[in-house]
Amino acid sequence: MKILMTTSEAVPFAKTGGLADAVSALSIALAKQGHEVKIVLPRYYNVDRTELTQLEGELGVHTGGGEEWCAVYNTQLPHSPEKNTVDVYFIDHERFFGRDGIYGVPSEPDFLDNPRRFTFFCRSVFQLCRKISWYPDVLHAHDWPTALVPVFLKYGERIPGFGKAVSILTIHNLGYQGIYNKDNFHYTNLGADTFYHAGFDDWNMMNMLKAGINTADKLNTVSPHYAWETQTPQHGFRLDGTLRYRYADYTGILNGIDDTIWNPEKDMYIPEKYSHKDMANALALYEKSEKNGKKNIKLLSNTGKGKAKEALQRKFNLPLNPEVPIIGMVTRLTEQKGVGEVFGPAYGCAWSLCQDLNIQMVILGSGEPWCENEIKSLSYRLSNFKALIGYSEEESHLIEAGSDFFLMPSRYEPCGLNQMYSLAYGTLPIVRNTGGLVDTVQNFNQDLGTGTGFMFDDLTPAAIYNTVGWAIWAYYNRRSQIETMRITGMKQDFSWEKSAKKYIEMYESARTAAL
Ligand code: ADP
Repeated sequence: MKILMTTSEAVPFAKTGGLADAVSALSIALAKQGHEVKIVLPRYYNVDRTELTQLEGELGVHTGGGEEWCAVYNTQLPHSPEKNTVDVYFIDHERFFGRDGIYGVPSEPDFLDNPRRFTFFCRSVFQLCRKISWYPDVLHAHDWPTALVPVFLKYGERIPGFGKAVSILTIHNLGYQGIYNKDNFHYTNLGADTFYHAGFDDWNMMNMLKAGINTADKLNTVSPHYAWETQTPQHGFRLDGTLRYRYADYTGILNGIDDTIWNPEKDMYIPEKYSHKDMANALALYEKSEKNGKKNIKLLSNTGKGKAKEALQRKFNLPLNPEVPIIGMVTRLTEQKGVGEVFGPAYGCAWSLCQDLNIQMVILGSGEPWCENEIKSLSYRLSNFKALIGYSEEESHLIEAGSDFFLMPSRYEPCGLNQMYSLAYGTLPIVRNTGGLVDTVQNFNQDLGTGTGFMFDDLTPAAIYNTVGWAIWAYYNRRSQIETMRITGMKQDFSWEKSAKKYIEMYESARTAAL
């Protein structure tokens, strides 16, 4: 199949969140399976033009403001398969993209002309295909910035060249929909009736994601459970009805993780590499010592994971003690991640967790100023609570590897990557029963000794406190079960290869339905 990814983000060129990782990793996985994949994204200011090749001539794009012109640049996606490289095209439009920021800057978080910037981009995609005489079988859009690609395909660009193309829309986070003043609609250059036919109308505003949901041939989001949740009023961000209307074409496909980067057998940020086999050997020795009546808990620390724990304690100035469990967190400090219930002043449970339980806590994150300040304040007052405010790739790897448990009390979580990284590193996730966390973590069953993590339902400080308490109880009293859970988690397959196969099935079903 010929697949065109239309996106506002793709690593290593532009990234604000998981979308950027997903688009590039999925493209590579599809190319590895023999498909012809190209990516198109805006040429933001930080993408250096001197590293790219400029295509001859310019593109003329019809908008409500008349014909506008843009240049096109091209390169290849790093790490794509040698025999089947993924081409990346950049739409270069000085007025729209010649500035800092992808969607905004701190002084203007959502650029006023965003509806026009991304309308223009979506329309330019079709002209690009004409220019390079390459017509995709599948036009794959991601989130609201490219949600107009399916709309243009259906209402404006069907011919020439796109007669057989189908459109796919992937929702990475329903919380962002691109809702703007209706006045922006004329810029799409679509007939006025399309505003209603395509379902842009949202209480007399223009909702770009909603139009995409209404018109794409098939839709998906990034985990099966989130696909279900988004069809309920609780998690639907007012689009649950629209999604229920499309339920027959709507699925959930779990994101994968990049196992060349997030893999304890290859990780360059940890002191010693390790695998589930090393963990199983250590467990066997420990159980043998237990049987002989000379229980030796130290045997369990004699692994690469144990070394990572020691390095983590050293780095964060925690007492060097292999027996004390470490609870890690790496997160954006925003409400979505449940940080209020953990760090909220006089409300969150972090203080009592560190006071009441024999644990250590390590936090890496940045985000809302109140939360950053509260975390700093906790780290001054508690000797077993350490934090790094900021963004650090290196420390995030060390926390994933060196912690015993990883806390993710998300309010909602379309897929979530950290819990999958944790599982890969033998770190047990403690998560809220929501979104992709449900699809990736199995709750501990202390009678059977099964599971890969710990779960709770309510987003309250008490529920988090009790569940962490349960995990710590198991750590001190059911150690063999804890180690078995680590090994089970490490053996799970979260590869992009598996996810890419599901995307191919979705593309194929869209093409069959369009015949
Ligand atoms: P979201 O995309 O909603 O933030 P995910 O769990 O899907 O949540 O992905 C978050 C990614 O960002 C993970 O790879 C996580 O390790 C990384 N991350 C978040 N905050 C930081 C930080 N302060 N330092 C390093 N990595 C971070």
